[in-house]
Amino acid sequence: MIPAASFAGKRVSLFGLGGSGIATARALIEGGAQVLAWDDNPDSVAKAAATGIATGDLRGADWAGFSAFVLSPGVPLTHPKPHWTVELARGAGVEIIGDIELFCRERTQRAPAAPFIAITGTNGKSTTTALTAHILKASGRDTQMGGNIGRAVMTLDPPKPDRHYVVECSSYQIDLAPSINPTAGILLNLTPDHLDRHGTMQHYASIKERLVAGSETAIVGIDDSWCAQIAERLERAGRQVIRISKRLPLTDGYFADGTNLMEAVHGRYSRVAFLEGIGSLRGQHNAQNALAAVAACLRVGLDLGEIQSGLESFPGLAHRMEQVGRKDHVLFINDSKATNADAAAPALSSFNRIYWIAGGLPKEGGIEPLRGFFPRIAKAYLIGEAAPAFSATLGEAVPYEISGTLAAAVEHAAHDAAQDDSGEAVVLLSPACASFDQFKNFEVRGEAFRQAASAIDGVKPIGGAR
Ligand code: ADP
Repeated sequence: MIPAASFAGKRVSLFGLGGSGIATARALIEGGAQVLAWDDNPDSVAKAAATGIATGDLRGADWAGFSAFVLSPGVPLTHPKPHWTVELARGAGVEIIGDIELFCRERTQRAPAAPFIAITGTNGKSTTTALTAHILKASGRDTQMGGNIGRAVMTLDPPKPDRHYVVECSSYQIDLAPSINPTAGILLNLTPDHLDRHGTMQHYASIKERLVAGSETAIVGIDDSWCAQIAERLERAGRQVIRISKRLPLTDGYFADGTNLMEAVHGRYSRVAFLEGIGSLRGQHNAQNALAAVAACLRVGLDLGEIQSGLESFPGLAHRMEQVGRKDHVLFINDSKATNADAAAPALSSFNRIYWIAGGLPKEGGIEPLRGFFPRIAKAYLIGEAAPAFSATLGEAVPYEISGTLAAAVEHAAHDAAQDDSGEAVVLLSPACASFDQFKNFEVRGEAFRQAASAIDGVKPIGGAR
């Protein structure tokens, strides 16, 4: 745990007592603050109180006496409307911050030289965070990973000069971290997402921009116009910017040329790493993630040999194009995290002979946006509530069956793929749907796929991601 000493001897209010809220309260108490914590859910309040955290309804609190208000990132700061605690804090002129801000203040105070890589973007945050941390760890660096992935940031080990932090940041967390100051900040990409919580794309982008604007080095994926403009703006403001592109040769920066990752310096190119043969980093989207990780690792002093060897041993993340098994020429891929059409697109674009398991609780727009990938689909196996609608979209374009359950879909897809004699065939769960009609969540759905695939005679597990 990192004791949050920046509020030693001061009174701090805190709202949101989920796992990270409790961890943050404990870190503040450990650092010497007097915390008053609350939540709209009485069970969460009771749980926090049982661990010795002082709780009390913040409606009746003396707000003028608080030095700060610590808000859980799950609670609305701005949209659709500010939470009632936010109104009270603003009314009393109390600063509103989150756990990432506490971490930044602690690092700045105790070990400002501790390498700190912060990662955001609409897609690929977790993969890039896990990959960067993996490369650092595999190279023997003291590495702590957390934030929006894995451990809450204040539960990590305390900053010291040679300790590396790799922290995934959601836009909600950035919104609550006004002094975020990473050594290398990564902004991968920006597409409309969570606009219910951010109002406009402009507002969403401006929050994400803050992470790179506060960085010593800003690493920005310039493949979308929002991020390209941000890179321009930062450079004009005199910041150090490293551009990355998964598809364009750049004059300066890092870009992907097929599976080769290239460095460009004033228009001169050299290969810095390659992804050929790395099953956990297939696809153009992963080239973007890998370019960002490579740029960040170079920035904090790793050499090319260390980076390549880390890329090659990356096990991947569970449920994101995760290789779970193989039988002869048939590969089983679990992409259960793809809960809408946009998220399923990267997997469908990464393989050629696809036995596609799709369906679940349908999302607006269905699979129409995926039509361009239909020629890659040898057959579709439809499950859950979305099956009738998906079958109507597939129509004559793709052979399909309505399998109903995931178990039946895996069995039929594996059988058909085994008969395919045109090279590598992939049984792919990339459902383009939420899971809740048949499973508790996407993780449980992915595990069910893994088990069904493993139960097939002759399927050998491909380990690593769990
Ligand atoms: P996040 O943490 O931002 O949700 P993940 O790394 O968990 O992202 O990846 C979730 C899904 O997003 C992946 O299964 C893949 O479909 C897609 N994805 C991953 N990286 C990228 C990227 N760089 N660009 C676009 N889509 C991506």
